[in-house]
Amino acid sequence: RTPQPIEELEKQMPETYNQFVEIVNKLENHYHDMQDMEFTIEEGKLFFLQTRNGKRTAQAALKIAVDMVEEGLVTKEQAILMMDPKQLDTLLHPAFDTEEMKKHEIIATGLPASPGAATGKIAFSALEAKERHEAGEKVILVRQETSPEDIEGMIAAEGILTVRGGMTSHAAVVARGMGACCVAGAGAIKVDEKNKTMTVNGKVYSSEDYISLDGSTGDVYEGNIATVEPEISGHFGTFMSWADEIRSLKVRTNADTPHDAAQAIKFGAEGIGLTRTEHMFFAEDRIFIMRQMIVARTEEARRAALEKLLPMQKGDFKGLYKAMEGHPVTVRFLDPPLHEFLPTKEKEIADLAAELKLSVADLNGIISDLHEFNPMMGHRGCRLSISYPEIAEMQTRAVIEAAIEVNEEMGWNTVPEIMIPLVGEVNELKYVKNIVKKTADAIIAEKGVELKYLVGTMIEIPRACVTADEIAKEADFFSFGTNDLTQMSFGFSRDDAGTFLKHYYDKKIYDFDPFAKLDQTGVGQFVKIAVEKGRGVKENLKLGVCGEHGGDPSSVHFFHENGLDYVSCSPFRVPVARLAAAQAQVKNPRK
Ligand code: PEP
Ligand code: MG
Repeated sequence: RTPQPIEELEKQMPETYNQFVEIVNKLENHYHDMQDMEFTIEEGKLFFLQTRNGKRTAQAALKIAVDMVEEGLVTKEQAILMMDPKQLDTLLHPAFDTEEMKKHEIIATGLPASPGAATGKIAFSALEAKERHEAGEKVILVRQETSPEDIEGMIAAEGILTVRGGMTSHAAVVARGMGACCVAGAGAIKVDEKNKTMTVNGKVYSSEDYISLDGSTGDVYEGNIATVEPEISGHFGTFMSWADEIRSLKVRTNADTPHDAAQAIKFGAEGIGLTRTEHMFFAEDRIFIMRQMIVARTEEARRAALEKLLPMQKGDFKGLYKAMEGHPVTVRFLDPPLHEFLPTKEKEIADLAAELKLSVADLNGIISDLHEFNPMMGHRGCRLSISYPEIAEMQTRAVIEAAIEVNEEMGWNTVPEIMIPLVGEVNELKYVKNIVKKTADAIIAEKGVELKYLVGTMIEIPRACVTADEIAKEADFFSFGTNDLTQMSFGFSRDDAGTFLKHYYDKKIYDFDPFAKLDQTGVGQFVKIAVEKGRGVKENLKLGVCGEHGGDPSSVHFFHENGLDYVSCSPFRVPVARLAAAQAQVKNPRK
């Protein structure tokens, strides 16, 4: 039989219909939730066979929650608890047309590293992705793994697929930041970047073949699947405004471009909690100057290159401040090891040597001097500013001058927050802070203006946590870098752990990825110690988190319970964090 709308029952059996409505209301009122009910009518008698809370899509869940509050069935607090924050994700990204999807074969599955759906032809290098995108093609960037050099290709691609890497691999973090779809660590795929082929289960794919990625499931499909744009209905706004009324934890965003910052503002971000300035140096017009700075043999030569970077960097910060409309902006000073900015391929090295007027042998010598066995534990973070204080000087100048100019132009009161990465010892912070203060105060005095700025630190090394009382004396704020803190607490690399962690899950040694969800038993204890020690010295020390865990609901609960002031996450996770923070407040109220 073709099912009839329920209204048909009213026409055909009005009495039974009234009885039906009465029971339905009773059940919904009793369970305080939308019911999925089964009933039958036999010889005019109504029987209820079963009732249970109805399954629902994210869209439906929002409408149900809002309707139930408006009908007085549940309170706003109860409604807030009815929605799984992770479900919001599906509302913010394009998705595959479900009917279309059924017609295509899944050829591999990786980690669902950044949600959304993407379809395009395969591009095997960042440059190729960029060029084909500029020529009007839709491409999926397929790489063994990505590195900062690939950024422009990642921006140009519809989606990113990597063979290696976990949830905090470069590809995953950058894609989430951009809101781009990404499947990471699809180990069944073999990529031959040189011959531009990809092989899965014996079948070979070339640059002319389409693939489609589902970043929410990690599935890789053969062929071109049509996508549908997300619809954000009015219920979404109403629901999120209740979450904002309730929560006490603030939500900021990690953003490196005005585009990402503006997106985050639309999603309700209350400031930037992390700008990774290193991402600003890979653009075509800058990388050469950056490389000039890195290979400079004298301070004078380094300063000459930095002088050229200053106006660009200042422009970046002005763009961010403007996009954030006066909200606080945390700028983190250069963090990665410098060799990441240098070319790796023979031809690129030869080209760079020619541009720099160096011999290839000399340039190779410099590159090999910069080589490190464990770069993530090497010459990076505040260690760079200690070796080359002029880098910190240039970045301070850019942060401060940009803030003065934007505040003047817009009549705002932006308070820039300068953040020093990878501090493990208070004297490191003292040294860099001194450079920052000297530079910033001189500019402010010279311009004859007033500007409030903060100097704080990332807390991402275990030693920083256990000496947080000393560090707090020198810091205006702490921001927990839980990516590095997890890496350094466990002693395994965030870029490599993906390859063996699956054995840990299979053997039930771990039941979740500690880079995606905070390990509260271990890493969380370092956070707790640092909070207690820091606030023991400075009662009102501002505390935030800007590692990936800032957008993970269970981790957000932990940060709420431990008294943090804010979490900071990728723009597309801002609504998720806002809802998780409200749920934490309902379950465990704090001031
Ligand atoms: C961190 O370590 O948590 C962090 C936010 O910094 P990055 O991921 O850039 O090292
Ligand atoms: Mg870090």
